[in-house]
Amino acid sequence: MRPMFREHGKPTRSSWGFLGEGAGSGGPCDLSCKHCFYRNAETYAFNDAESLLCRFSKFRQYYGLNAVDITGGEATIYVDPALSKRGLKHKHPDGRNDHLAYLVQYCSNIGLAPSIITHGANNTEALTKQIEDAGLDTWEFSLHGLGEHNGVEYGRSHDSLVVGHGDRAVPDHFGRMVDNAAFAKRPIRWNISVTGQTYRDLPGWARFITERFAPTVANMIAWMSYDTWGPDNVPPWMKNYTDYAPYIAEAVDVLETAGWEANVRYFPLCLAKEWGFAANTHQHYQIQYDPWEWAFEATSDKRLRRSWGDVERGWLTEDEFWRQAVSLRTRSCDAYARQRQPQSPPCQSCAARNICEGQDSLYTTVFGTDHLTPIRSEDVGLPEGAVLNDVNYFLTAGDDTSLRKRGAKDAQAKELAESGA
Ligand code: SF4
Repeated sequence: MRPMFREHGKPTRSSWGFLGEGAGSGGPCDLSCKHCFYRNAETYAFNDAESLLCRFSKFRQYYGLNAVDITGGEATIYVDPALSKRGLKHKHPDGRNDHLAYLVQYCSNIGLAPSIITHGANNTEALTKQIEDAGLDTWEFSLHGLGEHNGVEYGRSHDSLVVGHGDRAVPDHFGRMVDNAAFAKRPIRWNISVTGQTYRDLPGWARFITERFAPTVANMIAWMSYDTWGPDNVPPWMKNYTDYAPYIAEAVDVLETAGWEANVRYFPLCLAKEWGFAANTHQHYQIQYDPWEWAFEATSDKRLRRSWGDVERGWLTEDEFWRQAVSLRTRSCDAYARQRQPQSPPCQSCAARNICEGQDSLYTTVFGTDHLTPIRSEDVGLPEGAVLNDVNYFLTAGDDTSLRKRGAKDAQAKELAESGA
């Protein structure tokens, strides 16, 4: 069994709580990382706090959620002029942010366990304490790649991806994040975006965090062309899933050996299975059962037939409530599949096509689909022609973990040979 920090496999009761304008968009950030979903967007503004409280309250009372991932842009710079008028400061000299603490405290008070996604560089000791005292459940640090810490260079991928507006360098960003993480008393979940800049550093990244921090959760998020990326705007650093796979496999091995929960997001299940990490992999379908991730119906503000209030009044059982929520989520995931699978012949004959929406469309445009091998019914214990409908099949079936060992070294040697170096 995989090491788990929290149980997977039940309908998630968490959502993204975007601080930016609109129901599901980014917000202002003091950086402009090259892979960011919103990098090419027009300027964003923060939502006012009262609107956000209404949204958080709706998560709790209407959608029945009990957790929220507060995310910007960058949450630590959150500001609402209306709160300033009430005497709250968003930037104390020691780094505290009363405006963010106000949101965190509200969520905590209503039973919506708040987490904060952050780049971590603003997390002074005082800010960390203030936010944790306000009721924070977990931090989620976006530690993309490796950099320099205490005069030792562990890699350069962080600085090639994490940049300021106008692509200005941000000296010592990696080191500050790592130092600030030590202030946290609450658990930190660690994110890395898997891109052309970072994928070769994944095993080293896994070693870096497992050697310094207590086992929690590590998320490797295969970059996708959400939001402001598309066929007319293909990033030069985008690599194929086949390039990423050996390095992800080795990183999962490092993490699990150290007792960490290792999650891989937005990765084709067939390739993940070939490399021994299908049980760790979450396409949109699996994300709906991942305790850390986001309930589709709440994130995209969908209308429910019956609200959570009906459960509290005893008019509906919890099982009945979650069945309707899951049905809505499945329809949203099916919409992704309908968009992606017709462009991908392997997906159309795959036994996992009802639980995997296929690969991101931009990857299909750039790299084609020859590298996808449809999963056969007999490979997943089904009669010929039958199709998997249990989205958590791989979570419970597990993997042949020896497949991970082929790993990154061979891939590196091949790359070197191909480059003639
Ligand atoms: S649906 Fe497509 S991407 Fe997903 S496992 Fe099957 S062949 Fe691979």
